[in-house]
Amino acid sequence: MPLSRKKKETPEELIIKGLGVSPGIVIGPPYILHTAPLQIAERKLNSHKEVEQETERFHQALSITREQLNHQIQDAKTKYGKEYGAILESHFLILEDEEMIRGTLKLVQSSHVNIEAAFSSVMDKFKNNFLKSNNEYLRERATDIEDIKRRVLNNLLGQHKSVTVEEPSILVADSIKPSDIANIDRSKILGFISEGGSTLSHFAIVARSLNIPAIAGIANVTGFIHDDDKILMDGHKGELIINPEESTIEKYIKKSERLIKERADLELIARLPCVTKDEKNVALTANVELPEEVDKALNQGAEGIGLYRTEYMLFSGRELPTEEQQYQQYRRIAERIHPHKVTMRTFDVGGDKIPLEILSSRGYVHEDNPFLGWRAIRIGLECHDFFVPQLRAILRISASFHVEIMLPMIVSVDEVRQTKKIVEQCKKELKQEKIPFNDAIKIGVMVETPAAAMMADELAEEVDFFSIGTNDLVQYTLAADRGNPKVAPLYSCFHPAVLRLIHRTIESAHKHGIPVAMCGEMASNPYAVILLLGMGLDEFSALPPMLPKIKKLIRSIQFNDAKKFAEKILAMNNTADIEKSVADETKKFLSVT
Ligand code: PEP
Ligand code: MG
Repeated sequence: MPLSRKKKETPEELIIKGLGVSPGIVIGPPYILHTAPLQIAERKLNSHKEVEQETERFHQALSITREQLNHQIQDAKTKYGKEYGAILESHFLILEDEEMIRGTLKLVQSSHVNIEAAFSSVMDKFKNNFLKSNNEYLRERATDIEDIKRRVLNNLLGQHKSVTVEEPSILVADSIKPSDIANIDRSKILGFISEGGSTLSHFAIVARSLNIPAIAGIANVTGFIHDDDKILMDGHKGELIINPEESTIEKYIKKSERLIKERADLELIARLPCVTKDEKNVALTANVELPEEVDKALNQGAEGIGLYRTEYMLFSGRELPTEEQQYQQYRRIAERIHPHKVTMRTFDVGGDKIPLEILSSRGYVHEDNPFLGWRAIRIGLECHDFFVPQLRAILRISASFHVEIMLPMIVSVDEVRQTKKIVEQCKKELKQEKIPFNDAIKIGVMVETPAAAMMADELAEEVDFFSIGTNDLVQYTLAADRGNPKVAPLYSCFHPAVLRLIHRTIESAHKHGIPVAMCGEMASNPYAVILLLGMGLDEFSALPPMLPKIKKLIRSIQFNDAKKFAEKILAMNNTADIEKSVADETKKFLSVT
């Protein structure tokens, strides 16, 4: 696969395989994210210390970029052959170029400007020299310089800039962050194609929930797709077809029609109760990130929101929304889903969800291991100005609607006790201000760390409910990054260690008389439904498009049979065997496409 594919009069069909992370078939033009010019603001440095800090940031960004490039080269070599890997290797030369590095640092020292501005200006000079060349090969290298500049600046800035998509398009990017998704007009997005990421990346979760096909793991995708290409993507197979032939398009239209029919059949189920054959009731709720997803969830038969990822509202602005702004947004969701409940998870930022402006003013600094860093409840407990307005807004909503508070990333009983104290203080103040709230509002925790699962007995004494977050529980239990395609084969929710932690959590909760939901992706996985039901899970909180399938399965089985099946699976010790057994069992009741 060449880095810069030549444009041809009659473009040839080209099929590329990636990782399908959200099903669906679409055809359309690409919108390539890196073509948006990067806005670099120049900032004056006032001290020698600042010059040193900027130098350090530069070295860090270069080292991160080097690491990313290294991964991509390995990946590219296995997937597309040596030739392509070699082209990417040439990017290394630009990144390591002494003249570029020295020139940038010299500019910071002599002109006292921030590193982004200095680096950008040095790279632009390099690029212009190449553009002036008479040699076509050298002119082409200007694109490579721009590519490296963008990579380093993205790492320096820690995020992409906002995106304006004019016509319905397939968004093509090297990485799609939650901030990108929050900032684009989603009605214009037909699909997502990304170089990085995996099934559990946040863009993949959002794509599935919005019913938008998505493919991850296509190395240097922004380098070889042209703006005037036509793209067909099959998010189920993870196949990207550039400039498809007519016969290919026809084949895919037929496949798409079949999938749409299957989905329509399932939607009929949405209005039926979620009970097993022997009438055991199971709660079926939805995960949402954005208010506009609520209607979709209701249409698919959701009886409540089991996970509202409140942090998504932090990506559309530079400032923390005020208590009143939060109240208004929460109210829109609670009103729409009423009389059902909304489980409102307090801001789960950190990890791969970093609203930079909001967090840096509260002491956030670059972390080498953000998933093991300053995340979620840890930030809330340290920064009351961040936490309290949210808790007050939720409490105010509780006066008129059924809302519950859920705490993310809990690892100790102490964190729960500290949070409860803050909630009590908020209640006291609201009382003094004569603002109504529900004094009996329920507080629960996410069980998404092995520590929480191991402490489930003690935690159950402190809270009103559990919700198992398998996306993080799997990554922390198996020491496999949820967003790293390289370790994706290790990352399985069917690993016996994960299943035992889930089982332990459910048992502890029931012993203490509290219900257990699951809001991690495992609850949206049809293969896991019978097993989880058999383990005694009380509530499945899943992606809206998956709800009918889950309900169909639950309605097809006897609770006792599910229990026996879970016992059998819990006695097994091998992930691959378990995966095969759950797939075989599920296929007896459902065609899983
Ligand atoms: C989880 O970890 O399973 C979860 C639901 O939380 P998030 O995916 O938002 O980290
Ligand atoms: Mg989580």
